[in-house]
Amino acid sequence: MKIPKIIRTINRLRSEIDRARSAGRTVGFVPTMGYLHDGHLELVRQCRRRCDTVVVSIFVNPKQFGPGEDLERYPRDLDRDRKLLREIGCDILFVPSVEEMYPQGFRTAVGVEVLRDRLCGNFRPGHFDGVCLIVLKLLLAVMPDVAFFGEKDYQQLVIIRRMVSDLGLQVDIVGVPTVREKDGLAMSSRNLYLTHEERAVATSLYKSLELARLMILAGERRASRIKDRMVKLLVDSGVTKVDYVAIVDPETLEDVTYVNSRIRVAVAAWVGKARLIDNIGVDPVEIQPKRYRRGNVAVILAAGEGKRMRSRVPKVLQSVGGKPMVQRVVDAIKAAGLKQIVAVVGHGRKKVESFLQRLGVDTVYQEVQRGTGHAVLQTYPYLFNFNGNVVVVSGDTPLIGSETIRNLIDTHVKRANAITFATAVMPNPHGYGRVVRDADKRFLMIVEEKDASREEKAIREVNAGIYCFRSRSLFDALLMVDASNVQMEYYLPGVIVAIKARGGRVEPVVIKDYTEVLGVNTPEDLKAVRALYARRLRSEDPKRRLENGVHRKRRG
Ligand code: AMP
Repeated sequence: MKIPKIIRTINRLRSEIDRARSAGRTVGFVPTMGYLHDGHLELVRQCRRRCDTVVVSIFVNPKQFGPGEDLERYPRDLDRDRKLLREIGCDILFVPSVEEMYPQGFRTAVGVEVLRDRLCGNFRPGHFDGVCLIVLKLLLAVMPDVAFFGEKDYQQLVIIRRMVSDLGLQVDIVGVPTVREKDGLAMSSRNLYLTHEERAVATSLYKSLELARLMILAGERRASRIKDRMVKLLVDSGVTKVDYVAIVDPETLEDVTYVNSRIRVAVAAWVGKARLIDNIGVDPVEIQPKRYRRGNVAVILAAGEGKRMRSRVPKVLQSVGGKPMVQRVVDAIKAAGLKQIVAVVGHGRKKVESFLQRLGVDTVYQEVQRGTGHAVLQTYPYLFNFNGNVVVVSGDTPLIGSETIRNLIDTHVKRANAITFATAVMPNPHGYGRVVRDADKRFLMIVEEKDASREEKAIREVNAGIYCFRSRSLFDALLMVDASNVQMEYYLPGVIVAIKARGGRVEPVVIKDYTEVLGVNTPEDLKAVRALYARRLRSEDPKRRLENGVHRKRRG
């Protein structure tokens, strides 16, 4: 793509845009303060898709910064921004000076009453008037057909829509969903201010929103209850100061007392010297979960993409011995005596969901895969009031036996453990989390392959990926798991760390036959598992063969 043309004055901008217009081109506009990240670039991408001429502005607007705010140190790097824009395709990059936008004697003010005083307005007086002024001036200079704003700054989006509508400006305002880092942190130029430790704390804003969403989907309607839990999570995670957590009407931004229709949950908090904001929309009727109360619940992780399988069939539906893998897992769970089963689905949602529902398995949808811990968290609406044990099994370990599951639960109950999990000694442990023990063979921790040192990689005892948790502390612990690992994912073994740190009993149980827990990630894995299955059938007694459905299948 062409390097974008830099224009510094309104006059030149107007003549460039006039030229595009007389050639019959539509004009799209993305205003920013620069130091671009993927959130900004998504706005530009959408603009590129919709409009012929793409105009981006970079202007760190002094009028939207209050005294003592970060105007001086706000990051700036025009060269870098220009290169990033070049990759996407931007025609005009408008970079005015402060004097160009606010020439000597400038006296005009605009503002959207009421809306400007809510949420961030309470903490940043004058901020939204500054935003309105610059956006209005830019819109009048560019006169775009469409302008793009991020939902990340939700209040700003609502205020700009109001202003555009009140003043009758002829521009279509498009709101773009928030772009997030892998661990969920909303992208922001201000994330640059965070130290390594603060960066981990910063994810708590996203987590508090996840918590609110899950509580609402679980049927909690009292806004105060939800907000209290959010604040507790933020404080427990170590944020420096919470400015607000709010549950508001998505248009008026008024606080709601009960969540009965679509709402917006918003949060603003300080992490060190960075003031961070984030928000999400939640529709309370999105799912109507069944509520489990007691006993044992099995959670099947079935959301993974299985990219390396290079197949259109969702990974867990790949067949082993004539049955989709996940069905083998469901069969083993049922044979272990568990009736309450919920699967977390993601990739290939529709197919996997309808298949599992036919087997009597409930499902929840994990929209973005942020790790196994995050996957289990999605079952919260089902397990909100559950008091019992939660058994977690992967949907891609088709050789798992019912006895292994049963033994794990029995040990868990007998020993009154907080967590019991299965380990196996693998001839080739590559790809699995390693089980690290101390000199007395006592369990210390699990290290994922990508985070493992050379010595740790040599360990052959691996996390088999089957866990039994006491439900009561599970979700609190899941929310405390951090994603400071190479993959920036919330790993389920993080719960082990959290619960162990609080003195909970954690017991690894070594299973004898490692082949039961072999996972399938590649076509080679699948081939190996199929071969093992066939070999197992040949050597098994007739009773087990019946359990495996072989006779039934032969009879058709
Ligand atoms: P800023 O440079 O912070 O003024 O942001 C410029 C535009 O990018 C605004 O419309 C923001 O809402 C939008 N934006 C900033 N961060 C994100 C994000 N993470 N995802 C989507 N849009 C964003």
